[in-house]
This record gives sequence, structure tokens and C-alpha cells, in this order.
Amino acid sequence: MIIINDIDELNSYLKITNKNSLGFVPTMGALHQGHISLIEQSTQENKHTIVSIYVNPTQFDQVEDLEKYPDVLEKDIIKLQKANVDALFIPDYKDIYPDDFSYKINESRLSNDYCGAHRNGHFDGVLTVVMKLLNLINPHKAYFGEKDYQQFILIKNMVNAFFMKTEIIGCPIIRESDGLAMSSRNLRLTSKQRVLAPQIYQTISSGCSIKQMELKLKEFGFDVEYIQLLDNRLLIAAKLGNIRLIDNVETLLTQETQL
Ligand code: AMP
Repeated sequence: MIIINDIDELNSYLKITNKNSLGFVPTMGALHQGHISLIEQSTQENKHTIVSIYVNPTQFDQVEDLEKYPDVLEKDIIKLQKANVDALFIPDYKDIYPDDFSYKINESRLSNDYCGAHRNGHFDGVLTVVMKLLNLINPHKAYFGEKDYQQFILIKNMVNAFFMKTEIIGCPIIRESDGLAMSSRNLRLTSKQRVLAPQIYQTISSGCSIKQMELKLKEFGFDVEYIQLLDNRLLIAAKLGNIRLIDNVETLLTQETQL
């Protein structure tokens, strides 16, 4: 696996790579099986797979969340080598933001709702970094997890809105055996919180009304930010202490039956 540290090195790599069959998986590192599943889909569908690890500061609305983001690059590199990744791109702030974030992508509808209603500027940061990475790499296909369903829809719509050439592919949510959606944030849960956390998935899969779901999770000690329908999905964000968890499931609930 080639490790690429800056844009010059990236451009040299791209010159010798068949761009007609290049898959790209953007990540923020602290890799788990959820990330690996995206990578596996990319290595199956493309001749070359490039992964990026970049903890994008512009998408964090809480300084603590950014500061506590796990940094385990050595371990990540071993996982990526095992997964047969061809290239790992590890840019830094000056590579990605030569403009110091004076230009940004702003979506003005969907990004204000769901997670966007609780995380000021989050999706500006996400869409801007994804736009930059796609422009730099220009992959044939790029892979995103449906765990971040709102993010996936916003990126897919952005690519359509700006006539970008990359095909955006959504990949299913990978869960722990008790149902908890895998996330690098799970590492920060205390052992008590870790026991409670699967209640999120169990509750949104229960088929109860949204009000009943909220009540049940509150009884368990969750601070529920929202439970809302988007397309045929029921999306949730809830906090255990300071740790904010998100998840979603396909649902038969509709706008009429949800209450
Ligand atoms: P992150 O490193 O958290 O930015 O995630 C990088 C990519 O992995 C995003 O497209 C996420 O949606 C995806 N991802 C994270 N966790 C999971 C999961 N449990 N299942 C599937 N995809 C995931």
C-alpha cells in the first residue's frame, strides 16, 4: 500500500492509476468493520482502491469532540494493508484548506433538519471536505455508509447538483452482535453506557410510535435529540452523557402512523 502525504504525491499516484476503475473511501480513521465493509465493496468493484484518513475540523461543532477523536494511525494502516487497499491518502489542514475554509459548500434545505438542526455548520464542513476530496481524486466510485444516512443523501444530491462524475454508492450499516451500529465514538462509552447503547437500535426497530420510543429511551437515561422519518427510514440521534450516537432503520411507519 502506498502512503500519500500531500497533493503532489497524490497527483503522481493518480497519473499511474487507471482512473476508469478507481474506488474511493473517505474516512476519519479509527477504523472498524463498518469502514472495512465499504473498502471491501470498493476492492470488489474497482481495480484500485484509495482510502483517505482526515479528521476534518470544519465539521466538528464541539471542540471536545474533535480533541477526543481517536488517533490510531499505526493500527489503521495495518487494517488497510490487510484489506488490500492500494493507496492511503493522509492530507493535513493546509492541503485541504489552502483557503482556510473561506469557501464552503452550503446546502440550504435538508442540511438544516435532523442532525443539522443540532450541529451548527456540520454539513457545510462535511460537504466541503467531500467536494474537495472528490475534486482532488476524481474517482469512478465513492463509498459512504448508510449509518450516516442524512450525510449520504446530501452527498449524493450534491454530486448531482454540481454535475460531478463520481458515482456515489451507499453501503449498509454494520452492527455489533447486540445491534449497536459500529462507530468510533463507541470507544468513548463507559461500560455502563455501552450496555445501554444497543437500546437505540432495539427501540427504533420496535414498531412503536415515535412518542413511545422517546419515552422508553428517556427512561433508560438517553437524551433524545430527534427521532424523525426521512424517506423510508427512521433516523435517530441520542446522547448518553456527552457521547452522541446516531442510527437509522428502514421502517413501515409513515408520516400518518408515526405519532
Ligand atoms: P467516519 O470515519 O466516521 O467519517 O466514517 C467514514 C465512512 O464510514 C462514512 O461513509 C460512514 O458512514 C461509514 N461508516 C461509519 N460507521 C459505519 C457503520 N457502522 N456501517 C457502515 N458504514 C459506516
